[in-house]
Amino acid sequence: MRGDSIPTPPRSVAVAVFCGSRFGHHPAYKEAAENVGATLAALDMHLVYGGGDVGLMGVVADAAIQGGGRVTGIIPQFLEAREVMHRGVTDLIVTDSMHTRKQKMFALSDAFLILPGGFGTFDELMEILTWRQLKLHDKPILILNVQNWARSLIATLDDAMTEGFASPEARRLVEVVPDVESAFIRLKSLLPCMSATVEAGGMDKF
Ligand code: AMP
Repeated sequence: MRGDSIPTPPRSVAVAVFCGSRFGHHPAYKEAAENVGATLAALDMHLVYGGGDVGLMGVVADAAIQGGGRVTGIIPQFLEAREVMHRGVTDLIVTDSMHTRKQKMFALSDAFLILPGGFGTFDELMEILTWRQLKLHDKPILILNVQNWARSLIATLDDAMTEGFASPEARRLVEVVPDVESAFIRLKSLLPCMSATVEAGGMDKF
């Protein structure tokens, strides 16, 4: 049989999760991170994240690993110790810089889910959003607004539009969802390739 006639199995949908290297004050943040990791695994979706074992980053990775999911961690060498490189992930990629890390996370992912986080999370969101605004990609970006943690961030995005610095089309390139279930329902409608994995996983609610 010729190699090119062998059907390749469908690739699972990969979601990059950007989130805090701390837990944040509200227990709902950790619960949402656990729920996201567990749901990704249950739906046979691939988690791509920053490779650390700290804060919500560690929580989302642990939950996906516990659920038997595929997890790729991407961490720059200089952060290996500070963010406690996670040794339990399926694939660990150590990069030479932050830029390579973000580039690899972007290249491997079909969509981006922003969980509660701090400045690093904001940076990751803004870079992926501005790349989309510049039409360098057209992958969905969702902010998971657990406990309304992102209210000021969302207001800033809105202000950029109302003050005339971003078009309404650009503002629509990032969506806000209130909870984990809404995030996966929205991802399913934005990523038609997700339907097969959802059905196979028996997750009827999505
Ligand atoms: P934080 O939201 O500040 O807890 O950071 C979350 C993740 O973003 C961590 O993995 C940080 O290493 C990463 N991060 C911090 N600063 C940057 C940056 N300038 N560019 C990209 N990622 C960053």
